[in-house]
Amino acid sequence: MHELSATQNILRIVMDHAERNHADSVSAINLVVGDFANIVPDCVGYYWKIITEGTIYAGAVLHFDRRPAIFECDDCGSQFEITREMTACPQCGSDHVTFISGDELLVESIEIVRNEKEK
Ligand SMILES: [Zn+2]
Repeated sequence: MHELSATQNILRIVMDHAERNHADSVSAINLVVGDFANIVPDCVGYYWKIITEGTIYAGAVLHFDRRPAIFECDDCGSQFEITREMTACPQCGSDHVTFISGDELLVESIEIVRNEKEK
């Protein structure tokens, strides 16, 4: 499944960050999801619960910040957003357009909890 491997990637990034910062738990994870990434946030949340069960990551809340896809017109150079279906350039009507961004799934930041008490 697409979302399962995406969720595993998120977990790897979060684990790396949490370990370097000596986190005792992770409270929230802020993700950036492009509209063309084909990611269903609910699926990621579902897999997150499964693969983090019993770990310090299990309680983290996932926040999804959706970004529209950006295209650039090959003819007039204007950039525009596409949220659903492919459209022609809104400036000149050309359908020669190049995909710029919007298929990303990024971990923007994570919020960790550290227990200050000495063990
Ligand atoms: Zn154009």
